[in-house]
Amino acid sequence: MRQVDHWIGGQRTQGSPKTMFEVTDPVAGSVIAQVPMASGSDVDAAVGAARSAWEGWREASISSRAAVMFALRELLEEHRLELAEMVSAEHGKVREDALGEMRRGIEVVEFACGVGQLLKGERTDDISTEHDAYTVRQPVGVVAGITPFNFPAMVPMWMYPVAIACGNCFVLKPSEKDPSVAVRIGELFADAGLPDGVFNVLHGDADAVNALCEHPGIDAVSFVGSTPIARHVHRTASMAGKRVQALGGAKNHMIVLPDADIGQAADAAVSAGYGSAGERCMAISVVVAVGAIADDLSGAICDRIDALRIGPGLGAEPVDMGPLVTAEHRDRVLSYIDLGESEGAVVLRDGRELVVDGHPDGYWVGPTLLDEVSTEMKVYEDEIFGPVLCLVRVESFEEAMELIENNQFGNGVALFTRDGGAARRFRREAPVGMVGVNVAIPVPMAYHSFGGWKDSLFGDHHMHGPEGIRFYTRLKAVTEHWPDPADRGVDLGFPTAR
Ligand code: NAD
Repeated sequence: MRQVDHWIGGQRTQGSPKTMFEVTDPVAGSVIAQVPMASGSDVDAAVGAARSAWEGWREASISSRAAVMFALRELLEEHRLELAEMVSAEHGKVREDALGEMRRGIEVVEFACGVGQLLKGERTDDISTEHDAYTVRQPVGVVAGITPFNFPAMVPMWMYPVAIACGNCFVLKPSEKDPSVAVRIGELFADAGLPDGVFNVLHGDADAVNALCEHPGIDAVSFVGSTPIARHVHRTASMAGKRVQALGGAKNHMIVLPDADIGQAADAAVSAGYGSAGERCMAISVVVAVGAIADDLSGAICDRIDALRIGPGLGAEPVDMGPLVTAEHRDRVLSYIDLGESEGAVVLRDGRELVVDGHPDGYWVGPTLLDEVSTEMKVYEDEIFGPVLCLVRVESFEEAMELIENNQFGNGVALFTRDGGAARRFRREAPVGMVGVNVAIPVPMAYHSFGGWKDSLFGDHHMHGPEGIRFYTRLKAVTEHWPDPADRGVDLGFPTAR
């Protein structure tokens, strides 16, 4: 059985595990590796390695930090297929999708290559006679990153390239369900010239997460995952005096107005609803059809669902959608389809009985479309995180906007229309962090910042882009007085500009 290691202080190690977690192949439905769940002493070892490394890394010049990022970027490109296939083997997403995940992660490394430009402070000469003032941004110290299963390469890359380029050291606690790619990236970082201990990977469960959140050697915590755990991490780490950003779950709506191009909207709904089997925090999970277009829209969505190819993501035949990540998650998603049906939703396409030839034990759920969904139903309220799209029918744009307003989450939202006035009102009024107009998955580029509102984010900072720089640095304002030798003397008055 393959053993996944921690990556601590530039070394692979098993540490002294509390327990072992079994990593499965979602296509075969079998155990393919074991990963150690860190004990308290493993957490101390990882944090200790990062703290020791910080003494040197905080002093490393901006040019040398940027040089590591440039080298890492080249290595990630060179190994992109290998890394994408590692992701696919443990997560189940199809190869092309995993390659796209890698590309979007590498974009953050490219952003971090420009750290010299990003850390430039502000300066004002002559704020008072012979006085000058300026601001600098300094690293916060050692950062813990805790990440979910659905983007095992990209979501950690929202964090550590920016944190490390800013002069911090990093302890990554990836999801135990698909842990391998993080360790391989640790090796590539070493090949890129990163000193040992600046980037560490520690595998673990809730105990390891709680230990990191309360550890005196950790200065800041970046979390991405489900809303209940995001809330818990935000509270625990904040109480322990750390800087925290904790991104949570989502229920992303896509409103389709009567004037929209139905074909374009249906393409977008199916792509954003079923890509990566719906296991994306920016997946569309609710389509809101406004007015008389609902039947045409549901028909167009069904046509496209019927053409989707489902199968193993690393097979010889190209497919659109793979299995879900674990048997437990598949069962949870299936139970939501049962629940939706019992709540009165009309199951227009049913993924429950999907059979994939040659892979009887895979964690399959076919693309499912629930029509006539209402806001009281659990399938509407809860994040299902699978290939299940809910169709809600409303009469007006106002009614559609009320759904967005009243939703617990505020991660992503989209409007499909040809009406510029409606689009303008939508982008101004939607209480959501990332808004798309005729774009179903409005994930910002690396040089903008990613994050939601409401229960989709706890804390003040979004990830990467300018917000990432702010989160991983502390602002310092310096005031200097270099008097003319002829112009000195005691003055007990409160300093004011003169
Ligand atoms: P999860 O919350 O179960 O796990 C996230 C991390 O927290 C993992 O590293 C896990 O080991 C750890 N964890 C799990 N239970 C814990 C506990 N009780 N105490 C402390 N730590 C715990 O999330 P997941 O199932 O891995 O990922 C899917 C979720 O992540 C979805 O809700 C999805 O919307 C969300 N997500 C959000 C974003 C975003 O940007 N907002 C991005 C990706 C995923």
